[in-house]
Amino acid sequence: MRNFSLLFQKRCIICHEKKQFKYLLCEDCYEKLIFVDCYRDIDDTDCYFSLLHQGLTKKLIYDYKLSRKEVVRYFLADVISSKIKEKNLQDYTLLIVPSTKSTINRRGFDHIHEIAKEVANNLDMEYLPDAIVKVKETKIQHNLSQLQRIENLKGAFKVNADLSNRKILVLDDIVTTKNTLREIKRTLNGNYVDLKFVAVSSRSNEKYYNWV
Ligand SMILES: [Zn+2]
Repeated sequence: MRNFSLLFQKRCIICHEKKQFKYLLCEDCYEKLIFVDCYRDIDDTDCYFSLLHQGLTKKLIYDYKLSRKEVVRYFLADVISSKIKEKNLQDYTLLIVPSTKSTINRRGFDHIHEIAKEVANNLDMEYLPDAIVKVKETKIQHNLSQLQRIENLKGAFKVNADLSNRKILVLDDIVTTKNTLREIKRTLNGNYVDLKFVAVSSRSNEKYYNWV
């Protein structure tokens, strides 16, 4: 049960003034976010996402990572949940792109795990939080060349569960260069019935289906 205050139940979580319209946002704030129906291709695997990573979207995700704001988590989880419903992926097993223990300790919480719990709860999906673990500390990707990025991520993840008879959906927050999702796919090594990715936002898109 969501326990945010009465004030936020009716008011937009961004401007705190106008009435909620969709995803806890008022119509004006909703219009400022760029909702899209796009996907990116991760070595022949679809990655669906709902927002372009710019402006207000960027700020919301950044604020959530820093502040753990509950209402923003609800917003992000609602956006992902409706994308999963739209693509009919509720019968997939949910996994996450994991962080290392030290990153989680530094941040004070596991931001993607918190979103995934909410999504699994919203859609009554099976969720295996520890099926993929991050076993190697990686450097911040954006300072590295493309080759260094691939090298940096090599061997970063380990699969900790038997997924061979499952359809799996791996959740991430932002898709930037695709290297992380590629490494996840490489680590899973075909041991699944089907694989899809879903994210809140992406820096770019490869194909527009429709503007939502
Ligand atoms: Zn608003």
